[in-house]
Amino acid sequence: LNRRLAEFGTTIFAEMSALAVSTGSVNLGQGFPDTDGPDRIAEAAVRAIRDGRGNQYPPGPGVPELRTAVTDHQRERYGLRYDPDTEVLVTAGATEAIAAALLGLVEPGDEVIALEPYYDSYAACVAMAGGTRVPVTLRPRGGRFVLDLDELRDAVTDRTRLILLNTPHNPTGTVLTREELAAIAALAVERDLLVVTDEVYEHLVFDDSAHLPIATFPGMRERTVTISSAGKTFSFTGWKVGWATGAPELIAAVRSAKQYLTYVSSGPFQYAIAEALRLPETYFTGLRDDLRAKRDLLADGLAGAGFEVFRPQGTYFVTADIRPLGEHDGIAFCRALPGRCGVVAIPHAVFYDHREQGLPFVRFAFCKRAEVLQEAVKRLVAR
Ligand code: PMP
Ligand code: GLN
Repeated sequence: LNRRLAEFGTTIFAEMSALAVSTGSVNLGQGFPDTDGPDRIAEAAVRAIRDGRGNQYPPGPGVPELRTAVTDHQRERYGLRYDPDTEVLVTAGATEAIAAALLGLVEPGDEVIALEPYYDSYAACVAMAGGTRVPVTLRPRGGRFVLDLDELRDAVTDRTRLILLNTPHNPTGTVLTREELAAIAALAVERDLLVVTDEVYEHLVFDDSAHLPIATFPGMRERTVTISSAGKTFSFTGWKVGWATGAPELIAAVRSAKQYLTYVSSGPFQYAIAEALRLPETYFTGLRDDLRAKRDLLADGLAGAGFEVFRPQGTYFVTADIRPLGEHDGIAFCRALPGRCGVVAIPHAVFYDHREQGLPFVRFAFCKRAEVLQEAVKRLVAR
């Protein structure tokens, strides 16, 4: 293993899912739903295979049906207008879009700012691109993990190439507000930075929070690559259909890298997701309502089990502080928990450079059937 990747080892998600299987635990670790997405979308994929659509290499940028569905989605929901021919790229999940964006846009030695805790692929992809990651820590304040805008400003140097943003944010559940996004956008414009923004949880936003793409802010359209995917929105995480939208030069850079990573992927699934993006609004509100109820079920259960709970504004993850239980090390806690009571969670600390900042926090996924969440709570209460 080369020096760029040596520090990363095995991803925490593989480690904890293997532990869940070997101990027969309830797996609230890795974020994947235990119920598949809509039947009619699964049928659309089967139909595409049977009809011979996408069974051979699809076009490099993605099939036109999906590219148009993505641009319609961005326009109808956010007023963002993109050209399906030059400003959209279909990828193998958001994961590949993130990798290709960093490989295509970062020069060796460039600094990349990421909000800490960060999704684990960010650090590995910055390293593969030869960049240097510069974490800016989200800090718990008033029941939410908050970005300190002064810290963000101080993190920018003359070597900063881009800010890698993620909202709604995994693992904290923070949804960046209009004011926060406006400040980040103003900084990007002032310091002439690119923004790569991971918005895979764009439809999983609760209560009074709203998802706002940073590309909608003044001066941002031309400097932002927006990434999303079908995995979370349509509960088909195994299909790995993602996309990036942005100005033609930026998308061309992402595509330059993508063409040598996978070339193309997911032919028939692309057609099915093109249909999924056109599902009626009731699908999207139904998904949100279902997840909000599950969030509350799990958050209330964890509070009842003695954790301090951060009820998320978005995503399908609840963060809990273990210190009220007399614990302090989330990594040790998560390694021991399956043996103690048969529940798997993910320690925040693995998503930090400043590990001590994340040590008391653990993440539980609630994209599971209600009875599974109830069983997990029962086990945690009896811990
Ligand atoms: N970004 C974030 C923040 C995620 O939580 C995930 C997990 N699915 C991904 C990207 C990866 O998305 P995909 O499965 O579409 O590759
Ligand atoms: N995004 C999901 C999570 O955060 C799954 C990640 C993965 O398995 N790579 O749990």
